[in-house]
Amino acid sequence: MTMKNFFKYLLIITFFSVWGIMLRNKIFVQNAVTGAKKTVSQVTGIELPCAKPLRYAIGSVDPRFNLSTNDLLAEVEDAEKIWKAQSGKNLFEYDPGAEFKINLIFDERQLQSNEADALTKNLNQLEASHEQIVTQYKNLSGTYAQSVAKYNAGVANYQKKMDDYNRAVSDWNKNGGSQAEYDKLKKDKSGLEDLQGKLEKERLAVNSLAGKTNALVSEEKNVINNYNANVATYKNKYGSGREFEKGLYDGKEINLYQFKQMSDLRLTIIHELGHALGIGHVDNPKSIMYYLLSDQDMENPQLSSEDLSALKTACQF
Ligand SMILES: [Zn+2]
Repeated sequence: MTMKNFFKYLLIITFFSVWGIMLRNKIFVQNAVTGAKKTVSQVTGIELPCAKPLRYAIGSVDPRFNLSTNDLLAEVEDAEKIWKAQSGKNLFEYDPGAEFKINLIFDERQLQSNEADALTKNLNQLEASHEQIVTQYKNLSGTYAQSVAKYNAGVANYQKKMDDYNRAVSDWNKNGGSQAEYDKLKKDKSGLEDLQGKLEKERLAVNSLAGKTNALVSEEKNVINNYNANVATYKNKYGSGREFEKGLYDGKEINLYQFKQMSDLRLTIIHELGHALGIGHVDNPKSIMYYLLSDQDMENPQLSSEDLSALKTACQF
């Protein structure tokens, strides 16, 4: 091959490869157009929002919630019924193959919630032990009062016997007496010593009762302090209305993060389903779509008129 011929072939090859690139570009452009056309026809198909029910599936459910996929599904089905019943439209539909997922994700939010539960249990225990202490104190202080009265009577009796004995001894010293009288005095003395021993034991028992009663009083004080500290912690951490960060709709899926009871979880799901329909927050604290979990009826959740009108706007009903 001469040098001239080589350049000739090279040109032809370059020419074809340029064409090749152009062809490929052309094919690419055609594909893009077809794609765009498809998108346009799809968009035309869903002109009305909420015209078709939003299909959802249950995604991941963290086992630390002790909730099965079916348990969560049951709650979601309950939640979507609220929207359906009050709007009269079938807005959601369960479809195990749906791309739109509802997930239950465990993080510090649920940890905090568990901590709050533990704190509540702790408060209940403290209340119970406080009641116990009060009952114990009542019984013990009753026993103490009786023991003190008995001891004081014993002391008075001892004192009287002691006075009699001292008088008899002083008589005997002054006037003398028989051996029998002397023996009786000796016997009386030993009787008095016995009595004194008994009284001393009684005194110690009474003092021990006083000690127990006082210990109960300081135990009660501790329980009350502990209880108040726990209440303060609880109010501080969980007292005010909690924001709906318990759940999140991010445009593609719903993530649920925290709940205390099932009714609580259901309310969050109803709220997040509302967002999935395109509804924002409304102003009435009793509304499902209020930004806080506050005055809504947890056990019997209802859409407020604000919720319904937000739904009408979002779905263009
Ligand atoms: Zn919200």
